[in-house]
Amino acid sequence: MRTHYCTEVNENLIGQEVKVAGWVSSRRDHGGVIFIDLRDKDEVVQLVCDPADSIEAHKVADEVRDQYVLIAKGKVRPRGEGLENPRLKTGKVEIVVDELIIENKSLPMPFELGDEKVNEEIRLKYRYLELRTQKSYNIFKLRSKATMATRNTLDKLGFLEVETPVLTKSTPEGARDYLVPSRVHAGEFYALPQSPQLFKQLLMVSGFDRYFQIAKCFRDEDLRADRQPEFTQIDIEMSFCDQEDIIKVSEELVNSIFNECGYEIPEKFERISYSEAMEKYGSDKPDLRYDLAMVDVIDIFAKCSNEIFSSIAKETKKNRIKALKVPNGDNIFSKREMKRFEDYVRKFGAKGLGYFQMKPEGLKGPLTKFFEQSELDEIVARCELEVGDVVFFGAGDRKLVWDYMGRFRIHLANLMNIVPEDQFKFVWVMDFPMFEIEDGRTKALHHPFTMPKLNSEGKLEFDDVEDINSIAYDLVLNGVELGGGSIRIHKEEIQKEVFKLLGISDEEAQEKFGFLLDALKFGAPPHGGIAFGLDRIVMLLTKASSIREVIAFPKTQKAQCLLTDAPSPVDGEQLRELSIRIRKTNI
Ligand code: ASP
Repeated sequence: MRTHYCTEVNENLIGQEVKVAGWVSSRRDHGGVIFIDLRDKDEVVQLVCDPADSIEAHKVADEVRDQYVLIAKGKVRPRGEGLENPRLKTGKVEIVVDELIIENKSLPMPFELGDEKVNEEIRLKYRYLELRTQKSYNIFKLRSKATMATRNTLDKLGFLEVETPVLTKSTPEGARDYLVPSRVHAGEFYALPQSPQLFKQLLMVSGFDRYFQIAKCFRDEDLRADRQPEFTQIDIEMSFCDQEDIIKVSEELVNSIFNECGYEIPEKFERISYSEAMEKYGSDKPDLRYDLAMVDVIDIFAKCSNEIFSSIAKETKKNRIKALKVPNGDNIFSKREMKRFEDYVRKFGAKGLGYFQMKPEGLKGPLTKFFEQSELDEIVARCELEVGDVVFFGAGDRKLVWDYMGRFRIHLANLMNIVPEDQFKFVWVMDFPMFEIEDGRTKALHHPFTMPKLNSEGKLEFDDVEDINSIAYDLVLNGVELGGGSIRIHKEEIQKEVFKLLGISDEEAQEKFGFLLDALKFGAPPHGGIAFGLDRIVMLLTKASSIREVIAFPKTQKAQCLLTDAPSPVDGEQLRELSIRIRKTNI
């Protein structure tokens, strides 16, 4: 239907006859001559409909409205002097139309395309219209490039792309499952996979050696800007490998994706241990584009005369007292703002937020009276304070302090405007603990198939389960977790021991993961892998503000698809077939 895409119409075609097709992005009637910006997948080209050139075409142009579908034929000519638009690839020329067809009409747009201030609900209801903008097209062009780069690189490295089931059994990522009722087996359910974790491990037992899949994963959890109920992972598994092999493949893959999308990044990424990340940045996904690291001061506070602090400081394993220095903070923030910081951390469970100001005459602040001069000097030295600096303190249970001080660090960085927006800062977070204790229950930090660090005899050895580390790693970019993985347990006896520590009985393990446990008995090779969130990668590459922008048909924060109106009730017959009865309750 066309000889050229709109974007291709440039000064090289001057004098030639072309045919273009697309949507009207704007129409202007300049006293007799009608100008139309016609857009296809990319940029617009300007059509000129002058009755002096074609009365017919001009008549049609008169009927044209925004977003009508047109096919236009005409000659390319230079725009007049001073009328060029340097922002467009087609900005030096226009098409003088001699034949114009309205291929289809359009209702007026329910919102102005490209206007991001419009309520998201409307934009999602008409998502196909929102996608009809150059900004969206560019996002999906880049997403497609990232996917191609993934396939090409992994193919080159000897990986096999294998699809795994979507109707399956619960997988072990720890979120809530989406369930699908079975018609044939009344009262029984499939679960949608939270990841292909168990299947990719089985493929290693099959001897496939290197597997990958661009896989849809489903998790029924509370949604945030970087979470969706269904999302896409670049899922990888390898045999006879150690952590370094997986890191090497990952760095090559991430480099290929970023390079393909036009960004140079370091070939190798920095590394930090989980404990250093938590102690310094209060997060296992630290944003290292800026410093603001925390310092431990529990030993100094142990000596102070304030009973609350000194009793917190008695339990050095469980508790933390952390100092966060804000260089020049005294000049940046007013007293009132500093007061508001306390309200901020209280939202995340802090009991309070102490601070000292570094004045020319020494440390000032409500807490100084509890300290001897020598202890204040120690604080100044430990935190490397200079006149004008402010230092904040968080004290209490370590997990709580890490969390609210970590959030406070990010909050301060944003307020101080010190986050370099155009920088990519990758970091591997390594040596995760194998377990964490939450509400008295032992949980796996990654998943229960992660290999714990064993002693030289290949045995688990520990005094406190929380001290056991795992061979697990996460890749973090600018404070966002891009991916994570681990070396897996491939020996039955270790797997059994881990289940025991997690309080999973033999029967429960057999019922939930029996097929994997059986497979481990049939010559399972050492293996491990990783999975990257493709949506998050694209979100960061395109600087999108939410993961929803980079998913063609996303769901709302409440997991609804406003376009198709899913989820929605089904008729009684369908439910009867599935042996399901809905009990209506007034919640
Ligand atoms: N299955 C894990 C996840 O989805 C990734 C992995 O361990 O490979 O988080």
